[in-house]
Amino acid sequence: MFTSRMDDALTEARAAAARGEVPVGAVLCDPQGQVVATAGNRTRELSDPTAHAEILTIRAACAAAGSERLPGHVLWVTLEPCPMCAAAISAARIATLYYGAPDPRMGGVAHGARVFDHPQCHHRPQVYDGIAAAESQALLRGFFAARR
Ligand SMILES: [Zn+2]
Repeated sequence: MFTSRMDDALTEARAAAARGEVPVGAVLCDPQGQVVATAGNRTRELSDPTAHAEILTIRAACAAAGSERLPGHVLWVTLEPCPMCAAAISAARIATLYYGAPDPRMGGVAHGARVFDHPQCHHRPQVYDGIAAAESQALLRGFFAARR
């Protein structure tokens, strides 16, 4: 049975905002649909520019699986992944990517580097965009408005 995990990803995004992090959340599921990792951005907390929600879920799931690849896995993320995360998604062989809001400024899937469409990209996941995009966008807008 198909279950959307975008609500869980949004919960992670809200928790990230509460920590003072850019509100992006991600949920990674195994091929059976079980959640194997959830995360929100932690770049400030960890002083780590690579600590994006997607990277954190991929690291956790790979460590738990004892494998650098996650075939058949499904990643839900509230915002279009950046080029770094898109490259990690491809390297991990993730099967399906669902994301929320587009990110014309930093995105690397439908914008900018368009990592999955690049000839150097050897694994392209199925991509579905615009899932709960309005909610994801509102979270981001509220976060940046509050910091101005
Ligand atoms: Zn990223």
